[in-house]
Amino acid sequence: MNESVAPVAETRAFDAEVHQLLKLMINALYSNREIFLRELISNASDALDKLRFLALTDAELAGDDQATAIEVLVDVENHKLVIQDNGVGMTRQEVIENIGTIARSGTARFLESLSGDRKADAQLIGQFGVGFYSAFIVSDRVTLETRRAGAGADEAVRWSSDGEGEYMLEAIERQAVGTRVELELSEAHRDLLDVDRIKGIIRHYSNHVSFPIFVRGINDEELPADQSVNDTQALWTRSKSDISDQEYAEFYQGLTGDLDAPLSRAHHHVEGAQSYSMLLFLPPRAPYDMAWNRDDRHGLKLYIQRVFIMDAADQLLPRYLRFVRGVVDSADLPLNVSREILQESALLSKIRSALVRRALDMIEKLAKSGGEDWSAFQREFCNVLKEGIIEDPDNRERVAQLLRFSSTHATEPYAVALAEYLDRAKAGQATGEGDEKSSGDEPESTTRDAGDGNDDPLAIWYLTAENRQQALASPHLEAFSRAGVEVLLLTDPVDVWLVNHLHEFDGVSLKSAASGQFSDPQLVEEADGEPAKQLAGRIKQALGDRVGNVRPSSRLTESASCIAEEANGMTMQMRRMLQQAGQDVPEYKPDLEINARHPLLQRIEATADDVEAGQLAEVLLDQALLIDGGELADPAGFVRRVNQLLSDPGRGRLAENDG
Ligand code: ADP
Repeated sequence: MNESVAPVAETRAFDAEVHQLLKLMINALYSNREIFLRELISNASDALDKLRFLALTDAELAGDDQATAIEVLVDVENHKLVIQDNGVGMTRQEVIENIGTIARSGTARFLESLSGDRKADAQLIGQFGVGFYSAFIVSDRVTLETRRAGAGADEAVRWSSDGEGEYMLEAIERQAVGTRVELELSEAHRDLLDVDRIKGIIRHYSNHVSFPIFVRGINDEELPADQSVNDTQALWTRSKSDISDQEYAEFYQGLTGDLDAPLSRAHHHVEGAQSYSMLLFLPPRAPYDMAWNRDDRHGLKLYIQRVFIMDAADQLLPRYLRFVRGVVDSADLPLNVSREILQESALLSKIRSALVRRALDMIEKLAKSGGEDWSAFQREFCNVLKEGIIEDPDNRERVAQLLRFSSTHATEPYAVALAEYLDRAKAGQATGEGDEKSSGDEPESTTRDAGDGNDDPLAIWYLTAENRQQALASPHLEAFSRAGVEVLLLTDPVDVWLVNHLHEFDGVSLKSAASGQFSDPQLVEEADGEPAKQLAGRIKQALGDRVGNVRPSSRLTESASCIAEEANGMTMQMRRMLQQAGQDVPEYKPDLEINARHPLLQRIEATADDVEAGQLAEVLLDQALLIDGGELADPAGFVRRVNQLLSDPGRGRLAENDG
């Protein structure tokens, strides 16, 4: 094997910048220094899991029948702490790749997201597990010795570093398979060299590791098996009534590395044609990349008869529930299951649909209890949950009930449920087209005059926009705010797709406020009048191919103009998103609505000069596009025209070629 050509001992440099990054991390985590122990124990536990899994198919690897365990040795005299396991170990090459390359470890991801704000950073730890390098928070030097299961005693390797930019690699002999990590504690951290103290830290952070952890003084005798510090009985196999909230929270923290308790949990044992247990959690906050990183999913661990098999969120949970954390333990799946087999397993598809059902139950329960936890859930995960409307048609109604939206009638984002909107909705939310049949049993309108023609069925009005501010400034809201009609403000990127799939809720249609279907009754007559129509015709002539239709608005009161969406067409915002994603979008001429009472329009009406009227019309169109969040094809032209109008307000007449 090629390791034999490697020198016996060598010194290697870390990847660029590792040293500096380490310093940053040590700084950020200083006040949480104890987490290094959690990280090293979790690595040891993973190594034991891996070996147990490999031994399922290769009995040789099980090696001597020494019990699997993690040992922590306290050496007060020499200021050392040792964490050792008899897990899978590493080859020389694996040490170089896994330990010598910080980019591979959890630490790298943590460092990428460091903000410099100590408190916020400490919160982040939980989201990554900072990994092996956290040992340097408390150590002057870290030495790791390891022998890979299946490799000879003379193929072991020692890695050692003071964290200052280089590490040393050396071939050694090692009798036992597995890994030993020795920390030389720096002076400031030698208070940790106390058996009881270490036990306390382990109970706090690692109590539910499924292998026994022993702690003793380095010169003390080995401890009998019943003296492990932690509770190794898999928590999820126990009966619900025997488990305290505290134990659940600690289990969650051990599983995820989170420092806080989960928002909610669901624990079920299913017996019958197939038996399995599941323990699910809703975390208190989302990983920083949850919204856009739809592929990074390791929240759900699959066990078979209590043997850890793999992270199986991909196989077990739909993407829109990727924030759910937990374990599933099946009694029936074959132990040597592969990812491919999992994908096709009928047993598993049953478990999968049960998981979705239970996860939605869990979220509904949290919704019922309300309060700050429910608000936190909405803030953190509502945008991901919305994907369920698209991804999971079977559960569309259930998911829709769980969504909360920003609205003109609420100050907080993620505050209004669709059902709540409907409760509040007033009669008179109408299409304004007057040709839809009236159901006749709508509640009486309080804000509109009777007989205005706005007696169409109820609708759920929404406006998609980049953000709340942009939405609130939109001319599309003018008529709604005058009529006191609530509009949901949809500002998550996913909302544009959401409204394409959620056409109705509880039998009531969702309608875009930008579609021109809602009108102000006082303006309807005026808009229908001949003068307004003539003005619209003149503007259409001036703008030519740049627009589809130009029509007098029956809803604008403040603004001069706006873009009117097709009722069921692609919104401007969706077009932009598709374009940004590099997709071909069919050419589209927006419809322009004009407010004939606005001074700018009256000026167009008043002028006999067609060139001036044309320039003003272009400004109207460009303004409407801008307010809609769009980009102008010719921004320089727009600025030139506006400047000309401003500096020559008396006439606004522009020379044809004034460049
Ligand atoms: P992470 O655990 O997030 O991958 P770490 O920095 O903790 O990041 O570890 C990097 C890798 O080093 C691990 O994924 C594992 O492959 C290897 N490793 C670390 N500790 C051990 C150990 N005790 N036994 C075997 N392999 C280990």
